Amino acid sequence: MKFFDTHAHIGLIHEDPIEQLIIVKEAKQEGVTGILSICNNLHDFFQIHENLSTADNVYHSVGVSPSEVTNPGRDWEQKIEEGVALPRVVAIGEIGLDYYRKFGDKDSQIELFIRQLEIASRLGYPVVIHNREAGTDVLEILQEKLPPKGGILHCYSEDWKYAQQALELDLYISFAGNVTYRNARNLHETAVNMPLERMLVETESPFMVPSAHRGKRNKPSYLRDTVEFIAELREEPLEQIAEAIYANSLRVFGIDG
Ligand SMILES: [Zn+2]
Repeated sequence: MKFFDTHAHIGLIHEDPIEQLIIVKEAKQEGVTGILSICNNLHDFFQIHENLSTADNVYHSVGVSPSEVTNPGRDWEQKIEEGVALPRVVAIGEIGLDYYRKFGDKDSQIELFIRQLEIASRLGYPVVIHNREAGTDVLEILQEKLPPKGGILHCYSEDWKYAQQALELDLYISFAGNVTYRNARNLHETAVNMPLERMLVETESPFMVPSAHRGKRNKPSYLRDTVEFIAELREEPLEQIAEAIYANSLRVFGIDG
């Protein structure tokens, strides 16, 4: 069985390049033959890309997250263009809105989000979308500006009703370890009812560890727990669920199987 972690902050799990390579190698031994290393910021993106350049199961995203809205760096648009030109960069992200932590102000977050959606459209990449307590605005903006290559609602945290609106836009919905939490009823309902062909999984490591590993720092090798949990929820065979989710991951990022 093969698994694809569509959202891992490798650089936040460990700063040391050797340790980073060990983390992705260990994941590969657990069947995680694809990992999307998420850009934390444009200041360390190029270093992490270089650190992981020998890992054949790692792909990359590049973009300015809402946490960087007050400090995207000079020439950030040009840096994104340089980033996507590197090998194995398959998405723009993570980008989006975060009204929980109140980075900058709403207007500047929205402006940064829209500009990057336009860049993704122009350059022909899908987007990895961060949404925290900004669901209404995220959806409204995507209804106007979703790039042709589509997008992923990462670390899904809304309810089934919201998911239905997102699915109308052909968005992918990615579940992190929090779907395994017993009280996450909105996520369970969504995971059971949504079409399998739009489903993805991720670790969001080092955060959102699945309940089986509670208390530890999350890492890509824990991804299987999340897939097993979803298979049980849906009462479908694990192999079938894993295979479908893996195929979705290759499709959204335009990777040849
Ligand atoms: Zn993230």
